[in-house]
Order: sequence, then structure tokens, then C-alpha cells
Amino acid sequence: MRRSRQPATPHSFLNAERIHIPMQRAETADTPHSLPPQIEHVASCSLPTAWASFQLHAFVEKNTGKEHLAMVLGDVGSGEPVLARLHSECLTGDALFSQRCDCGEQLENAMRRIAEEGRGVLLYLRQEGRGIGLINKIRAYQLQESGVDTVEANHHLGFADDLRNYAVCKPMLAHFGIRSLKLMTNNPRKLDSMKRLDIQAERVEHVVTSNPFNAEYLAAKASKLGHLLTSANPHAPADDGVNS
Ligand SMILES: [Zn+2]
Repeated sequence: MRRSRQPATPHSFLNAERIHIPMQRAETADTPHSLPPQIEHVASCSLPTAWASFQLHAFVEKNTGKEHLAMVLGDVGSGEPVLARLHSECLTGDALFSQRCDCGEQLENAMRRIAEEGRGVLLYLRQEGRGIGLINKIRAYQLQESGVDTVEANHHLGFADDLRNYAVCKPMLAHFGIRSLKLMTNNPRKLDSMKRLDIQAERVEHVVTSNPFNAEYLAAKASKLGHLLTSANPHAPADDGVNS
């Protein structure tokens, strides 16, 4: 299903200054010249879920004050590769059941697979909207309703394609003694980041389902961001580089 392509809403219409929300670029801290982030492990508790009872750990990134979570199941510090998901926060997808993206499904699938394996870790990273923040993500959605795709919308707002960085994963994983991952991801950039951070990571396919609302979003991720999408869906566009 394709919506008609029309000119994007002019940038000035969404001017951040009018509503006093800064549109700052995020740091890309996993680049080699950046200082490694320092974290503090603050607290942990058990977190019963539909799939398993995880141990939930709260961390604070010292230089930014950002709060991140880790959900851990089983003995992850044995040195054996650990089934893992590095999940970036998506409030609309993770908590509000949005079908504009595949985040909620990826989160649920990852938790279920870790539960099935009886051992694994899910890092819940607070970098909403591929790093542009919640409000800017809603701005990007508004732009997408005028016909641009997810990548073009970021560019219209003055952001790069993907501002996420995964540098904070290194000290978080180290906290649990995890050195090697079986990483549930479709994103080659995430695997590249692990390599740059010197974290061993082997990709594990992460199936997502397309629906009429996210088919174009998934296609843009595949064709423009290089995501390796495994089609389990009747709505996937046939010609947009979706592959298994
Ligand atoms: Zn999402």
C-alpha cells in the first residue's frame, strides 16, 4: 500500500524555536575519538513479565545523566555468548502499541526468545526516535504524513539518518561480565558499532511483521539504512530490498 507522494510540509511550519524545544544533534559517542561513557549501576529488582521473571538493573550515564535499563535472565557471566537485544527506546511502539514501526514487536520477540533460551540480556537504551528524541520523532511522523519517508523526515528536521550510539553498551555489558553476544538485530550498523567497541557479536535473525501502517517504514529502513529484514508478512513491498 502506498500513500501519494506530495511535497513535504515546509520546515518553518515545524520550527522548533516557536515552541521552545531545542533541536540539538545527538552525540555519536561510539566513534573512536570519543571518550568511553561512564556509568553507575544504581539499583536492581526482579521484574516478572508474561514470559519470564527478569532481573532489572538501572544505570545512569554519568556524563549525560541518561538513565538506561538492563533486563537479565540466567547466568550471563559464564563467558559463553549471550543472547542479546540492544533495544532503543520507542515510547509509541513499546508502550502505546503503535504500528507505525516494528519496535514493540521486536521488544516482545526479544523478551520471549530470551525467556525460551533461559538466558540472555536486553539493554533498554534511552535514545528515542533513532536518537532525535520523542518530540522530534512526533515532528518526523507529522512530516511523514505529508509524503516523505522516515529517513527524509529526519533530514527535513536537520538530523542525520540515525543518531543512535551504542558506546554505553560496553560498560553495561562489562558490569555483567558479558564479552560475547548472539545479537538479535536486523541492523548492520549495530553490528559495526559492536566491532568498533571491541565487543564480539554474531547476528541472530530477528523476524518482524509488516502491516499496512509500517510497510513503507520497513521498506525505507531496508533500502536506505541497510536493515536486513526477514519478511514474515503479507504487506511487505516486493521491490524494496527486503530480504532474509
Ligand atoms: Zn518505534
